[in-house]
Amino acid sequence: MTNMKAVIANGPKDYKLISDKPIPTIKDGETLVRVLTSGICGSDLKMYEGSEFYWGVGGRARRGVIPGHEFIGSVVDIDPSIARDQSISVGDVVVAEQLVACRDQCWFCKNGMEHKCDKLVIYGQGIDGCMAEYMIYKKGSWLHKVPEGLSPTYAVLAEPVAVSVHAMDRAHLKPTDLVVVSGCGTIGLGLIAAIETYYPDVSIVGLDYFQFKLDLAKCIAKNCTTFNLSDKTVSTIADIVRKMSGEQNGADVFFECSGSPDSIRAGFEFVRKCGTFVHVGICKEIHVDAPWNAISAGKELTIVGCNLGRHAWPRAFEILKKCDLSRMITHRLPLEEYSNALGLISSGIKVVLDPTLPAPKLLNDSQSLLPIANNHDKKQLKINDSVAFVTGSSHGIGRAIAIALAREGAKVVIHGTNHDSPSNSNEGTTMTLLAQELSTITNNNQITPVWGDLSTKESVQSVLNHIKYPIDILICCDGENINSNEVNTASEGKICNDTCLTISDSDTKSILNRNFWTTHLVCQSIVPQMIRNHQGHVIIIGSTSALIGQEKCALYTVSKAAVHQYMRCLATEVKSLGIRVNCIAPGIGTEQNVTNKPEHIANAVIQLLNMNFVHGQIIRVDGGEQIFSC
Ligand SMILES: [Zn+2]
Ligand SMILES: [Zn+2]
Repeated sequence: MTNMKAVIANGPKDYKLISDKPIPTIKDGETLVRVLTSGICGSDLKMYEGSEFYWGVGGRARRGVIPGHEFIGSVVDIDPSIARDQSISVGDVVVAEQLVACRDQCWFCKNGMEHKCDKLVIYGQGIDGCMAEYMIYKKGSWLHKVPEGLSPTYAVLAEPVAVSVHAMDRAHLKPTDLVVVSGCGTIGLGLIAAIETYYPDVSIVGLDYFQFKLDLAKCIAKNCTTFNLSDKTVSTIADIVRKMSGEQNGADVFFECSGSPDSIRAGFEFVRKCGTFVHVGICKEIHVDAPWNAISAGKELTIVGCNLGRHAWPRAFEILKKCDLSRMITHRLPLEEYSNALGLISSGIKVVLDPTLPAPKLLNDSQSLLPIANNHDKKQLKINDSVAFVTGSSHGIGRAIAIALAREGAKVVIHGTNHDSPSNSNEGTTMTLLAQELSTITNNNQITPVWGDLSTKESVQSVLNHIKYPIDILICCDGENINSNEVNTASEGKICNDTCLTISDSDTKSILNRNFWTTHLVCQSIVPQMIRNHQGHVIIIGSTSALIGQEKCALYTVSKAAVHQYMRCLATEVKSLGIRVNCIAPGIGTEQNVTNKPEHIANAVIQLLNMNFVHGQIIRVDGGEQIFSC
């Protein structure tokens, strides 16, 4: 074999995968490795999107380069002098630091600042990186053998964690400091792990928009308090942090780990007088405003930059051994999926490409939409050996869907907001009795009842704790039955005064909660598990009423339209991960209308589950009530 697969970066948004790139051969001082794992980070995405930092005049990127600077490789060929000096042999699992420097000629290298070498090049930017089957570790690289017990997929975190350790060093922490980490992606979480390891008495405040990242931050460090920026404003959180800090009235150190201008501005609110602001994230923008008078006359801050992790790699490996950061690896895909992988960065934490995984097959009708995310056997989702969870199935459409799935042989988990939800609509008494009743009707004894509110993350989790098996099929049908103490179920979650100009704030919130928020929470809790299993199908029950202007049903239809668009976005995120997502939009008044029955929807659900290759669609089931495009 003389050729290999490699991604080539020809310029901003102009990447392509080729399979006839010659496998490179070693020259003096070089090592050839087979790439085992290639990590993707925010800076790869910024380079792909065309940030000037990479592609502008004097930028770091070179056209035609193989991108990727986070990698683990197994040695295929090595210059004997390097092998001898560093006791590395063919077959060893070895990483090179992400930079190549002159090492002894420029002033910076001579003074221990090799990461700012006058001749500095970064893998995947100035020289070929790791989005390929093979790569060369250049002369002037720093090589590290991966410690035993760390898998290549996990050890790829060494690069970002080294960056985090360097950021920690730059802050010159004191043992009992209070620090804010803004942005709990890979670098932020790595920093939290580093602080937990080397400064266990430092108090950490983690900020992010994603709750799962904040939850992980709390698992990594015992002294970590977190705030979700979607729940509270920056000034509210800054107030709380000032109170936490006591007399000093602010954080000792603010670590900016997101590269977002908003986060940079927020930092000046959090940090105390004479405190330290460490900027770790790389911004897309070349210039971001800063309050210079506050920095000097106001607070006399120390502003610190930091880049790469030159002297931090041994400690990065120590941290990887001591803390369990494996949950930071959220996605693992074959090389062919590089562009989807770049797209997953914002919703995941560490996305890795594994060139040893088989390529995805081209789809055709006889295949399910493809588990390609690993080398497990590809199996098609079969209803009769699936577990289906139908939210809002105590009555009406949800109940009809549960019956249909049970008749097809699925294990069905039925759900109502309360144990007595079926009684609200005179379709039974309790969830337990409903499960027995459905078992009898369908001759399927694998129907499990669960009940509980789905309007908070915690309550969703406590409902899910009652489901023993991984869920293969999720039907979100809960729009009409949540917080039903305010609204009677017969009105399908609608309220009387639902017009854009007159609806009250509380009704607006409750209607969006009931129809959109619950769907979002349930998907966010269940879809990641489907991704791990490389299969799943989500069907969200929308409404045809969301497809036209409505005079008296405004916010209800807005919330259903939000659900439709949510489905499309989710479908885009999971397209390559073996998960299918679609909406079925029942006609208006399906519950009451004689010709328009819940059974029609249930039948459509079964058909859709059996139809491969339909993904991201809204399917009207309304007997032709609406005949125009969605
Ligand atoms: Zn990186
Ligand atoms: Zn140098």
